[in-house]
Amino acid sequence: SKKKKEASSEGNVRVVLRVRPMAKYELEKGCKQVVFKVPVADPDSDGPEAVQVNQPDKRFFELDAVLDESFSQQQLYEKSGAYNAISEDLFKGFNCTILAYGQTGAGKTFSMGTAAGQDPEIKEMDGVIPRACMDLFVNIMTKCDGNAQVELSYLEVYNEEIRDLMTADSSGQQLRIRETLNGEIYVRGLTAVAVAGPAEVGKLMEEASGRRVVASTKMNATSSRSHAICVLRIKGVLDDTKFQSKLTLVDLAGSERMAKTGAEGSRAKEGISINKGLFVLGQVVGALAEQRPKYKRKPPFRDSKLTRLLQDSLGGNSRTIMIACCSPADFNTEETVNTLRYATQAR
Ligand code: ADP
Ligand code: MG
Repeated sequence: SKKKKEASSEGNVRVVLRVRPMAKYELEKGCKQVVFKVPVADPDSDGPEAVQVNQPDKRFFELDAVLDESFSQQQLYEKSGAYNAISEDLFKGFNCTILAYGQTGAGKTFSMGTAAGQDPEIKEMDGVIPRACMDLFVNIMTKCDGNAQVELSYLEVYNEEIRDLMTADSSGQQLRIRETLNGEIYVRGLTAVAVAGPAEVGKLMEEASGRRVVASTKMNATSSRSHAICVLRIKGVLDDTKFQSKLTLVDLAGSERMAKTGAEGSRAKEGISINKGLFVLGQVVGALAEQRPKYKRKPPFRDSKLTRLLQDSLGGNSRTIMIACCSPADFNTEETVNTLRYATQAR
């Protein structure tokens, strides 16, 4: 089905699984490992690959790639397809979206990374975001001879409300999603800052992440309940032709079910609307990945803020990479299986 996907002009969706190492708390509980990558005959082939979950009974799931704890951050960046998307597709005018999905503690933020900081060197533990920023600017130099402008926005969707993370005083005014006549999605009034290099992106994102923590602490919430969305808008010239595209990097809200976190009252309301974004995202990505015309649904972009925001970056001429993250331990099997079900419906 890989061939068909590449030929299709509608949202090209690639889904990979990232299994983190055992956490300290899992080792201390005496947890057993129940998630295993199924060995592949040819590790250099481009999938599909399988994972096995051994509890309560043996189950297998197939994804475009399975990365267990033996895979480095650099390998995640390459095998997820992020490297190709950023150094090729983005410069052909495709909007590219990379999303991290999974329960809180599964490794979403570790995999995506936050900011590169102001250090121009990529370090071993850096995630997708700093690597993507670095390659974006490297390619602007090598492919466009420096002839491109990049603008950074960073926002958060929390309880179906949009918060601008690039400005200190975004409270009060409601940010609304708009669509241009040619189907481009934008948020009215959202800050966009011109950035000249990865260090600048790193600095701005670091400040923005700080705001995110402060704001959620004030509201007595945790950032694991919101979707953090970083958007890099590129306008440039390649081979004498103008192009523009968007790179969207999303650290999704925790996918865990409310029961386990003991949500009540306003927390329950939070849980519901966050799950709404993830729920609709699953439907949208599932509809985009559908190969059988008979079953093709219209992706319900408008049913949540998250999917409406991502409409021009998931549908149409775009590339989508979902990094599903999970724990290897028996303690988290239920959520791991939920994550794998979600991830495989998207594929
Ligand atoms: P999430 O963002 O999904 O809540 P985190 O990314 O914060 O989860 O990961 C939880 C913990 O596990 C963190 O301490 C993180 O550093 C660690 N971790 C996650 N993935 C890996 C990995 N692949 N290798 C090493 N440590 C990891
Ligand atoms: Mg996180």
